Amino acid sequence: MKPYQFDDFNKNSAWLVFRLDSQIADGPIDFYMVMDLPSGDIVTFETTETVLTQSQANKLFKEAKIKSVNLPNRIIIASGDPAEPLLRKATDKLGLDFETIASVYLEDLIAPIKQSFGEHFYSPSSIGHSHVRENTDELDRECLKKMIPDSYDPCPCASGKKYKFCCKKVFAEIMEAMVAAEEGDYTTALKWIDKAKSVVGETAEVICRESIVYSYFDGKKSNDLLAQCLSINPNHPRAHYLIGLMLKESGDIEGAVTAYQTAIRHYPPTDVFHLNEVYNNLGSAFYAGDNIEEAKSAWEKALLYLPSDKTTRRNLAEFIHSRRTG
Ligand SMILES: [Zn+2]
Repeated sequence: MKPYQFDDFNKNSAWLVFRLDSQIADGPIDFYMVMDLPSGDIVTFETTETVLTQSQANKLFKEAKIKSVNLPNRIIIASGDPAEPLLRKATDKLGLDFETIASVYLEDLIAPIKQSFGEHFYSPSSIGHSHVRENTDELDRECLKKMIPDSYDPCPCASGKKYKFCCKKVFAEIMEAMVAAEEGDYTTALKWIDKAKSVVGETAEVICRESIVYSYFDGKKSNDLLAQCLSINPNHPRAHYLIGLMLKESGDIEGAVTAYQTAIRHYPPTDVFHLNEVYNNLGSAFYAGDNIEEAKSAWEKALLYLPSDKTTRRNLAEFIHSRRTG
């Protein structure tokens, strides 16, 4: 199956309903858009700061019907959207066919709208958008999509809240901080951390990110912050992962394995991107400790979470190669 293109709808018109997660001053806001296909025009939209209601779903189609000359043949929505049952009900009322499809196949249709949202729109596909355009490899698209959770997935910080109502509120600030730190601009990075604190307070996630910024130039402060992060949330997965990386570097393989395993226990099962990352490192730690079978099994698990992961594939290939020749 290939991603939908506008031309696919020349003979079989449709309305595509999709959600854009945006950010306004007060916090996240979701746009539910109705796009006419094949024209690509936005017919109408509804916004919500929480979740779409049934009456909003009905209103969405009522308005679309008023504003359109003809009704389409069917309505398409991305599978897994929390509003899917409501939109299905509203579609039934119109007597139209209803199709759900993985959002990765809708990227090409939605991309122009996302671009027009510009910097106010933060999503897995706006980050690395250029990669999506340059690289049509479907697996890579999926990999990019999985980097950031869906709004209604459990938050990767293991707070137990949905992402939308937890760390998503400071997604932009944290990204800015990480990019600035990577570029060596620590003053700017710390300013973004302060901004994040002003939005959500000193959460485990923000303190963990502050620790990452300090890790570039002040190891002691970075460690103190990591300890502070774990005192706020002892299960914070990324903190355990970072501890694993440090222990591995200092040669404490056993300690690193334990820390990675703790991180794995606490990442939500939906966070396949980070689970892949930790399993990959767990494999490398086992390998460094000459625990070959465990290494193989950890790398295989990493691939289960992200089948397109090239690093892990290479690790496994080299492992198999060295076994055959060694
Ligand atoms: Zn969170």
